[in-house]
Amino acid sequence: MTEYKSKEQKKKFYNSKSWKELRLLALDRDNRECQECKRQGKFNHGQNVHHIKEIYFYPELALDLDNLETVCINCHNIEHKRTFAHINPNKSTKKIWQDERW
Ligand SMILES: [Zn+2]
Ligand SMILES: [Zn+2]
Repeated sequence: MTEYKSKEQKKKFYNSKSWKELRLLALDRDNRECQECKRQGKFNHGQNVHHIKEIYFYPELALDLDNLETVCINCHNIEHKRTFAHINPNKSTKKIWQDERW
């Protein structure tokens, strides 16, 4: 099965046509609105498309529209800190997911 653990694997994925098309579908579906802010009753434009289940752990969900949601940069940071905090509590996690911004 395809894995997305190394930098190269992720780079290839985030540069792929399938991902670029799918993230646009997700943005349109969510009206480019941050879904996390929405849950909190706030409104924010979202420009990042986040994997609800990290492709690092769930590579089979990488191209599953149901596993994607539009988020703002702020919420995206919070989401990823939450997910990776238990793996690497002392390490900056920024590099792991910054590809998702594009
Ligand atoms: Zn937000
Ligand atoms: Zn994300």
